[in-house]
Amino acid sequence: MKPKILTTLELPKNALDALEKYFIVEGGPELVKDRNKLLKLLEDKVGLLTAPHIKVDRELFDHAPNLMVVSTYSVGFDHIDVNEATRRGIYIGYTPGVLSDCVAEVTWALILSTYKRISEAERIVRARKWVKGIYKEPLGRDLKGKTLGIIGLGRIGRRVAEIGRCFGMRIVYYDIVKPPEAEKLDFEYCDLETLLKISDVVSIHVPLLKETYHLIDESKLKLMKKDAIIVNTSRGAVIDEKALIRALKEGWIMGAGLDVFEQEPLPLDSELLDMENVVLSPHRGSASIETREAMLNLAVNNLISVLKGQKPPALLNPDVMKVRPLDKTRVLQE
Ligand code: NAD
Repeated sequence: MKPKILTTLELPKNALDALEKYFIVEGGPELVKDRNKLLKLLEDKVGLLTAPHIKVDRELFDHAPNLMVVSTYSVGFDHIDVNEATRRGIYIGYTPGVLSDCVAEVTWALILSTYKRISEAERIVRARKWVKGIYKEPLGRDLKGKTLGIIGLGRIGRRVAEIGRCFGMRIVYYDIVKPPEAEKLDFEYCDLETLLKISDVVSIHVPLLKETYHLIDESKLKLMKKDAIIVNTSRGAVIDEKALIRALKEGWIMGAGLDVFEQEPLPLDSELLDMENVVLSPHRGSASIETREAMLNLAVNNLISVLKGQKPPALLNPDVMKVRPLDKTRVLQE
């Protein structure tokens, strides 16, 4: 009999066909809202294909004695207890790289919409309040000659920085790791405080970790220029959202473009929903046809590879190979 895997995704036919060649595939998106059913179904599964919409934690592993691989349809991994997975010999596949361009482009869509005040202006047109005359309010700002501050110069941050160059911006960045080729880069390194003080546009691209939780808090927001904007396409909890709301209401900064929030979906009573100087996007940084296809291919390959006893194309926790060597994960033949 074929081995069994579980998914919490709604899979298109080609992905389902690729998986059903090897596995009995159970589950679907309904499991996101039914944790008990998800846990129950995991008992006899060797693989889980999922996304940041569920927590992959000790409780889940306790219900999955046969689990050897979790493949997440995301580059973010804050929903997964990676150390615990490694300890238990569970491989974690993820999707780095294939979504960087798309997320960088969405970041720029938010930067442009916020700095040029496109969404605000669109609301005026839609409210049938466009009156004849020279357009005055809301006036946007120009990017050329301004400073773009990138927090986290990884795959996505670097692409955002490259695009910033095309707008004629000075690029500064902060990261815990200085890239090996830092000297050759056309971007200037500075500490976080300096970056916040001098940037007109601040864009966040660090993963959510213990160390980056509320990295941008009240004290950091107060360092920013009053006419600067902050854009976040990383994870909501990297910014203290309560402090951000105060900053936006009290004019410590000009605006914010947000794709991610501390609680998602954004609660219906969130004050952000009624604020003019915020552009809101429902966590769709990687939401393009091409990128989603590439992510799914990679996620499916990661899962199949581990269960063939092969190193997956994108393995988040390589130390797991010491705990459960790849020849012990082989449940499929070539
Ligand atoms: P990456 O690992 O290539 O880059 C992250 C960078 O952050 C690295 O250079 C790293 O050194 C730096 N960093 C880590 N900890 C830090 C700290 N404490 N202080 C300063 N810098 C630190 O990751 P990536 O592929 O660029 O993705 C970045 C994040 O974007 C993901 O972790 C994910 O949460 C988020 N993301 C969001 C969406 C979306 O739909 N909005 C889509 C994809 C990724």
